[in-house]
Amino acid sequence: MASILSDFKYHFKGAVTQEGDPEYSIKRWARNAERKAKFVVFPTDAQDVSRAILFARSQNLEIAIRGGGHSTSGASSTEGGLVIDMSKHMNKVRIDPEYKRAYVQGGAIFETLDRESIKHGLAGTAGTVNHTGFGGLTTGGGYGWLSGLHGLAVDNLVAATVVTANGDILKASDSENPDLFWGIRGGGVNFGPVTEFVFKLYDQRPDVFISTLVYPESLLPKVLDSVNDWLKVRHPRESAFLVYGLGPNAEPCVIFLFVFNGPEDEGREAIKNLVALGPIVNDGASVPYVEMNAMQNPRAYHGTNRLLKGILVPNLEPALMTRAWHGWKKIIAENPSASETIMMLELYHPDKILSVPIDAMAFVARVTSYSLMVSLTWSDDSLDARALSHELFRAIDVKGVGSYGNYDDVGAAIGGDRTRAMFGSNYDKLRIIKKKYDPEMVFHKWFPITPAP
Ligand SMILES: Cc1cc2nc3c(=O)[nH]c(=O)nc-3n(C[C@H](O)[C@H](O)[C@H](O)COP(=O)(O)OP(=O)(O)OC[C@H]3O[C@@H](n4cnc5c(N)ncnc54)[C@H](O)[C@@H]3O)c2cc1C
Repeated sequence: MASILSDFKYHFKGAVTQEGDPEYSIKRWARNAERKAKFVVFPTDAQDVSRAILFARSQNLEIAIRGGGHSTSGASSTEGGLVIDMSKHMNKVRIDPEYKRAYVQGGAIFETLDRESIKHGLAGTAGTVNHTGFGGLTTGGGYGWLSGLHGLAVDNLVAATVVTANGDILKASDSENPDLFWGIRGGGVNFGPVTEFVFKLYDQRPDVFISTLVYPESLLPKVLDSVNDWLKVRHPRESAFLVYGLGPNAEPCVIFLFVFNGPEDEGREAIKNLVALGPIVNDGASVPYVEMNAMQNPRAYHGTNRLLKGILVPNLEPALMTRAWHGWKKIIAENPSASETIMMLELYHPDKILSVPIDAMAFVARVTSYSLMVSLTWSDDSLDARALSHELFRAIDVKGVGSYGNYDDVGAAIGGDRTRAMFGSNYDKLRIIKKKYDPEMVFHKWFPITPAP
């Protein structure tokens, strides 16, 4: 091992670290997702990533790929294995304004894209919290505030560079390795780390209108009806989250988070009926584009225990959302250390997202664009959050129409039937691609695909 390790360190351009080294870090967005890796390596390019894969395989070390570090299951961490952490050196974004393309490294977060692209009056699709990584978000799907207009992150991917299990550095696009390109668009890390994504960009106005309306519990039925009325007429430029969380005086509240990619007066007009209900907080302002993806950052801070669990629902059903309200309230009442837990229904305009055929790529969850999701946050390490999330969804008694892998991040612990269910009708094709690029299941930390026989 010693000579193989020194050989690896000699050729690897970035840092190879072990516990005790100043650069060693296993930090993740969710504290509960951290695992003590034997090695954490910080590559500088695809060649380094390839070397790290070959070194880990030669030593029988489990490999975890870290992009933005936001998985709550530990899918980007490994106990005793080797982490390839692209967040340190492979985190850059280059814009080609002429062809409206963004070249995004595998460890970049989308704050960097927002900042760089808007300098050219352009924007790309990503998520809704700007410190999330492109790595997991894109390979898993990627819903964001611009999805109503432009689709998912994965719908806007035009090419990628992938390092496969045998260390090959491959281009993937419709014309190069199209099967690999099909697989990485929804198949997560199953085919290897993506070291560069190439995304389409769109013309973007410099300012957007955002609004936060906070209502007391007594207005819940009216808010649900009013949001349903809004859903019937809203434009793809309008997106919203219906959130259950604590209000300004730490009381359970219903929050309508609204984003309008247009001028303030039109944005205010679009939600005037919701404002007329009399929220206890009515904040609204035209803000620079980059602030749109930062507005949830205060809630979504790093370093505490977190678990995301979601299910796709076909519509906003008031009875279901009322059960969700009571289920969420019970959690925060009975678990004081989990009082920051929020429940939310994401409401993206569906037309653009659902216009892509289900078999166009691995991403399969195109029956609806509404995710009902709980973001459990807790400080008491002994709390069994996964059990709590299951109990919550049982109590809500919701029959989902699928699940979005990035919000049902079960990691490596549960494969088999869960993986088949997640990938649905695309699973058999994914198994064939897995056999070609990763027959030994080197990459198995997120909905691991069993290779075809
Ligand atoms: C605060 C917060 C907000 C979120 N908001 C949204 C949202 O608005 N829309 C949405 O769709 N999702 C959202 N998510 C879910 C998010 O998409 C997933 O958590 C995603 O996995 C995060 O990717 P990451 O690179 O930051 O995470 P990591 O923990 O680094 O990785 C997650 C998974 O992706 C793999 N991976 C990471 N980088 C790469 C890469 N370069 N190539 C291949 N595989 C890679 C990892 O191995 C792991 O399996 C949010 C999550 C959080 C915590």
